[in-house]
Amino acid sequence: MIPAAPLPLQPPGWQQLWRDAVRDPRELLSLLGLDVLADRISDDAAAQFPLRVPRGFVARMRHGDPHDPLLRQVLPVVDETRIVPGFALDAVGDGAARAAEGVIRKYRGRALLIATGSCAVHCRYCFRRHFPYADETAARDGWQPALAAIRADKGIDEVILSGGDPLSLSTAKLEDLTRELAAIPHLRRLRIHTRPPVVLPERVDEGLLAWLRGLPWPVAVVIHANHANEFADGVDAGLARLRGAGVALLNQAVLLAGVNDTVEALAALSERGYQAGVLPYYLHQLDRVAGAAHFEVSDGRARALHAALVAALPGYLVPKLVREVAGDNAKRAL
Ligand SMILES: *Cc1c(COP(=O)(O)O)cnc(C)c1O
Ligand code: SF4
Repeated sequence: MIPAAPLPLQPPGWQQLWRDAVRDPRELLSLLGLDVLADRISDDAAAQFPLRVPRGFVARMRHGDPHDPLLRQVLPVVDETRIVPGFALDAVGDGAARAAEGVIRKYRGRALLIATGSCAVHCRYCFRRHFPYADETAARDGWQPALAAIRADKGIDEVILSGGDPLSLSTAKLEDLTRELAAIPHLRRLRIHTRPPVVLPERVDEGLLAWLRGLPWPVAVVIHANHANEFADGVDAGLARLRGAGVALLNQAVLLAGVNDTVEALAALSERGYQAGVLPYYLHQLDRVAGAAHFEVSDGRARALHAALVAALPGYLVPKLVREVAGDNAKRAL
């Protein structure tokens, strides 16, 4: 018998890596040599909004460091179960701004399209923690009402793909979506708000780049990194490929206690991002969602940090400090 030739080793595709994410908080702690933190885990919090973190992102956490700024963003902890006045379920008033299923039309000229509900990573401070149902919408192609609303409103010149995470959709589905958008004459720009270029850079594959290159509008990709340690070689390479495809790269971050609430951390984030070709865009004050109070930084401290950043960095490396206020017609500068 002739032995079969060994199969060439194919690196796993992004979908496989997405599925292989760590979902068990105790496994995560064990991978990091932090089993002693087990009593800080909240099973209730994890049941409400499950842990989810790609293994490549785990590899960027510091082994044995209970205060790791990446770990803090994803570990479901007992602090989340505290009830804090002012921290609510629909903190940003999106419920009231929905123009059609899947479209949020809050700001002039821009329509935010909830392309899908699923995410590659579950961030504990995110308002999505209260919409677990959204994980199912990725499987549906329910875009027609949203597309009809965008088609009907000539005041919209920019579509923002958001979610959840639009890059959780297959590239084929993204192609379907932008083929429909390309037939709408009043659109001038496309923007994509997405975390995988940072947490799962394998998502930036040849198919995605080909799709981006073929789009008829200028495209901005707004990544989401909160700490300089989220960057790594693979992330830099993916971002360079995105730039090579003609995409403008911006970063939005959330100001998070215990993650990036020092001048040093914020300056390092801007500088590290710029090294990877990304300009800072927004630094958000936390949305006051139930379960996220332990991440809050006071407005006074936020302003002081921002002022210190202005003094420390060139202007183009200073993000705008903003808060989303229900009913406002733009993000509010602090
Ligand atoms: C943030 C946001 C936008 C985009 O606002 P920009 O200031 O242009 O980044 C659009 N729609 C909604 C609902 C938003 O929350
Ligand atoms: S929407 Fe963004 S911030 Fe929220 S859980 Fe998903 S990736 Fe994280």
